[in-house]
Amino acid sequence: MAKEELECSFCGRKKPETNLLIAGLDAHICDRCIEQAHGIVLEESKQLDNSDLSAELMLRKPLQIKAFLDEYIIGQETTKKVMSVAVYNHYKRLLQSPSKDDIEIQKSNIMMVGQTGTGKTLMAKTIARMLNVPLAIVDATVLTEAGYVGEDVESILTRLLQAADYNLEKAEKGIVFIDEIDKIARKSDNPSITRDVSGEGVQQALLKLLEGTTVNVPPKGGRKHPDQKFIEVNTENILFIAGGAFDGIERNISKRLNMQAVGYSASKSDDIIDQNHLLQYIIPKDLKDFGLIPEIIGRLPVLTYMDPLDAKTLRSILTEPKNAIIKQYEKLFEMDDIQFTITDGALDFIVEKAIEYKLGARGLRSLCEEVLTDAMFELPSSEDKELKVTKAYAEAKLNKSTIKKLKAVS
Ligand code: ADP
Repeated sequence: MAKEELECSFCGRKKPETNLLIAGLDAHICDRCIEQAHGIVLEESKQLDNSDLSAELMLRKPLQIKAFLDEYIIGQETTKKVMSVAVYNHYKRLLQSPSKDDIEIQKSNIMMVGQTGTGKTLMAKTIARMLNVPLAIVDATVLTEAGYVGEDVESILTRLLQAADYNLEKAEKGIVFIDEIDKIARKSDNPSITRDVSGEGVQQALLKLLEGTTVNVPPKGGRKHPDQKFIEVNTENILFIAGGAFDGIERNISKRLNMQAVGYSASKSDDIIDQNHLLQYIIPKDLKDFGLIPEIIGRLPVLTYMDPLDAKTLRSILTEPKNAIIKQYEKLFEMDDIQFTITDGALDFIVEKAIEYKLGARGLRSLCEEVLTDAMFELPSSEDKELKVTKAYAEAKLNKSTIKKLKAVS
């Protein structure tokens, strides 16, 4: 029997008429049809981009949002859950058709409280990556009230515009992550500050942005370009995520919890309070006592906290996330045809040092870098195509003085 001639199941071209015929389960597709299909996909996604974040987004329910976060972020279960719901509701709010009824869904701006290096920025970055929206990361410490040395609050929107390649429509649906929000707490207990230009004043200025307003934004930022035309940015649909370590807020929480315990009947004191992780009991009042004005707290209605990173979490951070540090090194070595392996002992040792020297998750990367730099320098031009990092190898590369140096820069 003559061999059946293969053909493209889409256009019917016979195999010899194509440059490439790819087999599927029960069908084949030729290079031309692939190109055409690709064009359609691009066209469709462009339309999606322009439409109001439409159905595509709504396909991701909170469960799927969390699953996405799980791929990149280890632990932090509470925050991931709270974030998934907040983001879902935020985009529901964008999609709601106006004026059907009088119910206006409030913005789900988020406040994340947690030690530095616990993944707050990563959380915001991952959400932005999932939604494919622009993200601006700004540091609250550089903000000052208009007219003072420092950056105006509006500069936040300049950053967002830049992140969106000056596509206003995209920027207006983007995410702003305001880091170190705790640093603009009111400093009322410091009598030497007569005018609190970097504290309460900034909070007041931020308020407008958070609640949704139209702001004239200098596209290049700053007052150094006085002639530039302003761009009008509406912050109505921008999702704001604020983060801060709020050092010492545990004292407020503890005090409040103790007072509650005193005022309550004995049965309530059965609830065991985890003294090592007081942040989990945080409520908006604690932020107020810390020095945030009630209006700001009200505009960041979703309050969540980060868990401290223990050894087990740090260990997982090294190897498990989609772009885990160790996976990145594997890839780097692979590009030079070098087979890189690292033993459990070596990984545990790196985690141990990160904890011992309080380097946190951020320190993991610098520790790995110290361990691997020599190999990354030498191996590409050597015949040696295998690198096995054992605990002894890591120990040899990480002596006390190198770690101390890391501590100084972290
Ligand atoms: P923060 O904003 O809280 O100071 P970051 O998000 O900048 O912390 O985290 C610092 C680094 O540590 C990031 O590069 C990230 O890769 C890593 N990291 C921190 N926490 C986690 C986590 N829970 N899962 C995965 N990586 C993490």
